[in-house]
Amino acid sequence: MEKSRIVILGAGESGYGAAMLAQKQGFEVFVSDSGRIADTYKEKLNALAIPFEEGQHTNELITNAIEVIKSPGIPNKAPIVAAIKQANIPVISEIEFAKRYTKARTICITGSNGKTTTSTLIYHLLKKAGINASLAGNIGKSFAAQVAEDQFDWYVLEISSFMLDNMYEFKADIAVLLNITPDHLDRYDYKMANYAASKMRITQNQTDADYFVYCADDTETMKILQTMKLQARQFPFSILHHVEQGAWLEDDLIHININSKEQFSMSIAALALQGKHNIYNSMASGIVAKVLDIRNATIREGMGDIKNIEHRLEFVAKISGVTYINDSKATNVNSTWYALESVSSGVVLIMGGVDKGNDYEMLKDLVKSKVKAIVCLGKNNKRIHEAFEDDVEMIVNTFSAEEAVQVAYHLAKKGDTVLLSPACASFDLFTSYEDRGIQFKKAVKEL
Ligand code: ADP
Repeated sequence: MEKSRIVILGAGESGYGAAMLAQKQGFEVFVSDSGRIADTYKEKLNALAIPFEEGQHTNELITNAIEVIKSPGIPNKAPIVAAIKQANIPVISEIEFAKRYTKARTICITGSNGKTTTSTLIYHLLKKAGINASLAGNIGKSFAAQVAEDQFDWYVLEISSFMLDNMYEFKADIAVLLNITPDHLDRYDYKMANYAASKMRITQNQTDADYFVYCADDTETMKILQTMKLQARQFPFSILHHVEQGAWLEDDLIHININSKEQFSMSIAALALQGKHNIYNSMASGIVAKVLDIRNATIREGMGDIKNIEHRLEFVAKISGVTYINDSKATNVNSTWYALESVSSGVVLIMGGVDKGNDYEMLKDLVKSKVKAIVCLGKNNKRIHEAFEDDVEMIVNTFSAEEAVQVAYHLAKKGDTVLLSPACASFDLFTSYEDRGIQFKKAVKEL
């Protein structure tokens, strides 16, 4: 009998993992990528004798599949996706597909900002507690590739809204929604409501045996929650208010109260990940740890010794009394707000890149009070000049990480901070935010 055919669109980490798992499950597999496939993935596909095409999507090779697994990078509005839907073929995400083949339970983290940090912290707490867990989703080795070797009891999954858009039957045992602030609106008809609805899919299919952890200080989350009736047990976290069940801040202590469990508390000064945004990320992670009955002492230890995560408010060096911080992952305005919030005044801010229709208004107060100069790092810096020309002494254009660091070095005085927190995507001058962060660090080290 002919095997059922599964087509994978996009041959990155997620696509390769899906292809490997699908083959292992006995499907005939074909991989199609409209761009160039990286040599490492080509080699891996060849080693498994999985056929693929690159530089194009051939409709006839795709629309005879029983199901298509789409990389989150490909918009649902892409012509090939429309053609697949026209042919009534379901289009799902790698996460949806892989979950069918594992009994492991999942903790799923989404939000506009803080996903990687929170997923990494939760994973760190689980490992410390001796739980047989792995980290996947948007991070590292794909979920599908790990499921193919299925060795874990729990997966901590970093989930983007693009993944959620193609998840239907999937259910998270514990869902965490960190925040909903404008990002990627180009993929959501520029409607905040559409984007928020996508984020809320993290709670889909949950029952009263599951958990939903969310930020009660987040306006968009609270707005959409009012319109929904959720089955899951809900635990909010808040810096602004006391909450009965969940996490809150009082006298610079994080408190967590989960049903009848022993209450948790910890000083925010003892958190390894500093900054207001990390209080939120720590609260969310602490709730998850308490739900899983991890001991208070273990949670405290884990929150106190987790290593700083690369490209996220990462300390690089102190040179002549000036601190250099790499926050290259701040690719939207909100994350730059939190970065500025967490440093003292006397900032030389390196920002710019591909502007995603940014509204810089929310940064103005912090820029006025803390930033002495802005060093633009991007091909087109017009919008940054327009937004901040009245707020800072100086705005300078630069076109490489090295040039930006050199200029910042000359502008900063002892006690200042040079902060790379771009509020923009990196693709005008760099291959990725990682590339931007690495080039920045290299230039700092060469000072
Ligand atoms: P994501 O994976 O969602 O992109 P990261 O954990 O990589 O988020 O953090 C990216 C940037 O977002 C950080 O450098 C920081 O400036 C900012 N950030 C982190 N956590 C939060 C949060 N809870 N709220 C707002 N901004 C945050």
